Amino acid sequence: MPRGPIDLHTHSSVSDGTETPTQLIRAALEAGLDTVAITDHDSTAGWDEALTAAQGTGIQIIRGMELSTRYEWRSVHVLGYLFDPNDGELVAETAHIRADRLGRAERMVTNIARDYDVSWDDVLAQSGGDSIGRPHIADALVARGIVRTRSEAFASILHFTGGYYLPHEAPTVLDGVRMITEGGGAAVLAHPATRGREAVVDDRGMAALVEAGLVGLEVGHRENTPDGRARLLELAAQFDLVVTGSSDYHGEGKPNRLAENTTEPEALERLIARTSGVRPVRA
Ligand code: AMP
Ligand code: ZN
Ligand code: FE
Ligand code: FE
Repeated sequence: MPRGPIDLHTHSSVSDGTETPTQLIRAALEAGLDTVAITDHDSTAGWDEALTAAQGTGIQIIRGMELSTRYEWRSVHVLGYLFDPNDGELVAETAHIRADRLGRAERMVTNIARDYDVSWDDVLAQSGGDSIGRPHIADALVARGIVRTRSEAFASILHFTGGYYLPHEAPTVLDGVRMITEGGGAAVLAHPATRGREAVVDDRGMAALVEAGLVGLEVGHRENTPDGRARLLELAAQFDLVVTGSSDYHGEGKPNRLAENTTEPEALERLIARTSGVRPVRA
């Protein structure tokens, strides 16, 4: 029996969380978690440090990642769990995404710098990790006193409609799910109902994702709307998908708190049963 909550979606400073993997594991222990997944954006660079930090504590670590993908023009996030970190296609694709994230962030900052007193060096000073994103631009804007918080930056300058937004390259969601599956992992759609019931992927789209190997849906997430969650539960029943819930913790970078949404032990068991890359570790 688990000794505490199961939280399958967290970020460290390897991507856009504010805590190192070691600090993240400490926070997970303080929150009384039984199991925590480290799921940085497009990077597995925090895995080893997380395992080392967990040594001897009894917490279970699920090694994962939040892969950036797209559906038409929209950004879609896919959680991948327990895949082989040396899988050739995943290694190449995530390296490509991270490289394009860097160029895209620099282009966004070049445009922002025409109107605000912020530089690319300011942004680099905020990102010590492996995968750069808008949150690091937000942190530079905060450091410069242009906005007060990350959220304020996202609501204005960094917003999709803010005039500076640029997309970054990413595989299609179908390819993303396929890659994670072929790499021995379990693919779960992250926060798939943030835009409400009508915007949730339709039956045909879901059938294609399941065909590509999709294992689950992250239903419990603060940004999924109530009617969207209801739709996700219908789809999960229809396609026999695993239902997960998670915090999407980013340290102080977002208000999300560890274990604010959790996953049932049986759901985690079903996820693990679908994987053949790396194992869960309880040391
Ligand atoms: P990007 O992938 O570079 O486009 O940045 C999007 C990431 O920024 C998301 O994955 C979130 O983790 C983070 N994010 C989105 N909105 C906010 C917000 N309001 N405050 C802090 N972080 C956010
Ligand atoms: Zn993030
Ligand atoms: Fe996400
Ligand atoms: Fe996330």
